[in-house]
Amino acid sequence: MHYHPKSDLLRQRIILVTGAGDGIGREAALTYARFGAKVILLGRTESKLLKVQQEITDRGLLPAEVITLDLLHASQQDCHQVAERIAQWVPHLDGVLHNAGLLGEIVPVKNIQLQDWHDVMQVNVNAAFMLTQSLLPLLLKSHSSSLVFTTSSVGREGRSGWGTYAVSKFATEGLMQVLADEYKQTNLRVNCINPGGTRTSMRASAFPKEDSQKLKTPADIMPLYLYLMGDDSRRKTGISYDAQPGRKPGAAE
Ligand code: NDP
Repeated sequence: MHYHPKSDLLRQRIILVTGAGDGIGREAALTYARFGAKVILLGRTESKLLKVQQEITDRGLLPAEVITLDLLHASQQDCHQVAERIAQWVPHLDGVLHNAGLLGEIVPVKNIQLQDWHDVMQVNVNAAFMLTQSLLPLLLKSHSSSLVFTTSSVGREGRSGWGTYAVSKFATEGLMQVLADEYKQTNLRVNCINPGGTRTSMRASAFPKEDSQKLKTPADIMPLYLYLMGDDSRRKTGISYDAQPGRKPGAAE
């Protein structure tokens, strides 16, 4: 995406990023902070989150907050507690990026282990749903807020062997569409991003044989992540965007 945001695009915006300790989420959190946002870093590995927080401090940006939560075991009560904690720090939320994700096993449907199915659904769908329910009141207090889910090309067209992960991303697209319709008369917009093949550890475990140097880095795909959090996307809702438009999905990418 060719998008050149103003350097203060997200000045004083308050944005929560899940899975902010690594990969795309880490880059998104650092980028949002660089464009002026106060970021709330949520993830399961505290040491990684603290490193991102320190990097933001070292750059002299608005101080970031850290919330350690393993979404695999997160309950509705945990999500309510997250919202309560955030409400003690800030008056509202201007953005939430649901980025944390679990790949699960890449196997044909007949071989999917039930536990793996439950785990992937829990992290990719249930946790995003529960967190959204808890955070909606804070998002609706903003004069212009953005809720962004992370999808995948296999969440739009089923592909052999992608089992649970693909189904979880179809569910993500569905949740985004329902929410976008429910909140279309409000200041909250709801969209999806499909990052496209990106150089992260999740990608490496899905495609261990590919040359990762040929992939875009998380930093390369940030224009869309910025666009959807800033006011330039204010009237856009219910859309599933590609961070790398025109890129062919799949192994031979
Ligand atoms: P990574 O595996 O590099 O990062 C995933 C992040 O999610 C990590 O910070 C990880 O935490 C966090 N996470 C995983 N499980 C949990 C959990 N149980 N609780 C809390 N946090 C958790 O993945 P990517 O950056 O590649 O992926 C980010 C998103 O983009 C995902 O939703 C993925 O499905 C999607 N995507 C990625 C593509 C790619 O090519 N990379 C392509 C299409 C979609 P920790 O650091 O502790 O492991």
